[in-house]
Amino acid sequence: MSSALNWKGWSTIALVVGALVIAVFSMPRLESTGPTLSGPEAVALGTAGHELELEALDTGTGLRSLQVRIVSGGGGQTVYDETYAGNLITGAVDSGSTRVAIPLDPRALSLADGTSTLIVTARDWSWRDAGAGNRSEITVQLDVDTKPPRIQTTTGLTYIYRGGAAAATYRVDENTARDGVRVGDRFYPGYPAPGNLGGTGDRVAFFAVEVHAPRDPEIRLEAEDAAGNVATASLNVRLNERRFSEEHLNLSKRFFDRVVPSLAEHTGVTKPNNVEAFQVINRDIRARDEARIQELVAESDPQRYWSETFTQLPNSKVMSRFAEQRRYFESGNEISQATHYGFDLASRAAAPVTAANSGRVIFADDLGIYGNCVLVDHGMGITSLYGHLTDFAVKAGDMVERGQSLGRTGATGLAGGDHLHFAILVGGTYVDPLEWWDARWIQSHIEVKLAAAGR
Ligand SMILES: [Zn+2]
Repeated sequence: MSSALNWKGWSTIALVVGALVIAVFSMPRLESTGPTLSGPEAVALGTAGHELELEALDTGTGLRSLQVRIVSGGGGQTVYDETYAGNLITGAVDSGSTRVAIPLDPRALSLADGTSTLIVTARDWSWRDAGAGNRSEITVQLDVDTKPPRIQTTTGLTYIYRGGAAAATYRVDENTARDGVRVGDRFYPGYPAPGNLGGTGDRVAFFAVEVHAPRDPEIRLEAEDAAGNVATASLNVRLNERRFSEEHLNLSKRFFDRVVPSLAEHTGVTKPNNVEAFQVINRDIRARDEARIQELVAESDPQRYWSETFTQLPNSKVMSRFAEQRRYFESGNEISQATHYGFDLASRAAAPVTAANSGRVIFADDLGIYGNCVLVDHGMGITSLYGHLTDFAVKAGDMVERGQSLGRTGATGLAGGDHLHFAILVGGTYVDPLEWWDARWIQSHIEVKLAAAGR
């Protein structure tokens, strides 16, 4: 008997098996999913240029190529064209995601101002499309703007004291990403002037010269548009120098025995003795609390909530003034220093603390050395702070009227006795409350300027 399979039979089986092997092998090679592309929806391109960040990923056969073209009415140009290592048999060598940052320089690319489109395309190592691979595409809107915004002062000569504040009015000709007054390395954002509802036109910025600012800080107007173009303009400001008094505080045994231990426990400070604990509280916890305050006041409401002069705590006696340079002594040894950035006001114990002006409560909670503390945003970057309270009559989010109760005075936080620590911040800088309590200063330094803005 001859065997069941002859030569023809065997070769048929071999062909079928071969075809199956090829089919099984080529199935994944014929996958139909193109690369995943991600990038920004739009890019604003100014004179300084921009790096277009893109990410491409292909989990099938891998990324084969990536191309970026700029297409505008007049035609197109390729700004990026890359082919990645790999082949049609084994796919991409590197199968992970690919990130590229493509520098776009409007001058080098001879781009005119206006809107055009970036077309990003990618292919993979699939056998689809006659071996060219699956194609993916995304588009990115490209807004070229090489014209800096125009900013121009509408304010005359402005006087400002070290540790004090001032208002600047100015005009911008386009919607800006930010505009305001720069004082040294600090920037004070501007807001639409009263009556101006748009992002352009008349603006007002409250600014300050910090107590410890360098001797002749540069003070100027600054505006930046969405494309990153920056414009500056001069501001006629005369800074009056001012010296602040030095205060020696001899800390009592009672202070170390009663105030420091509970505050150390409350703020998580563990030190072998109360002098060291006080040093850490007065330096590190103070710095931590000030950083928290900076976060809280970073965003201010654009409207001006107040129209009257700020008020001092009723029937209160001034115990300590703004920017006293405090030196702390224990048994005759100097153990710490700090600048006192507010007024200490004493009335009777647990006296009602009233809002110095109308505004929105942005914080009413424990704040380390300030104890139970309330912060009121008065709009346009102006905030008042009330520290060491016994309790609260308001909560964050509440709108308050000038003179409305916020809580009661106390001695919570770093306080030797019942009093109110009152401070005013302008754009995150502590300023002397005396100016804001002074009706004549408000009139001549703020109201006159706001009234003139837009005329
Ligand atoms: Zn104080």
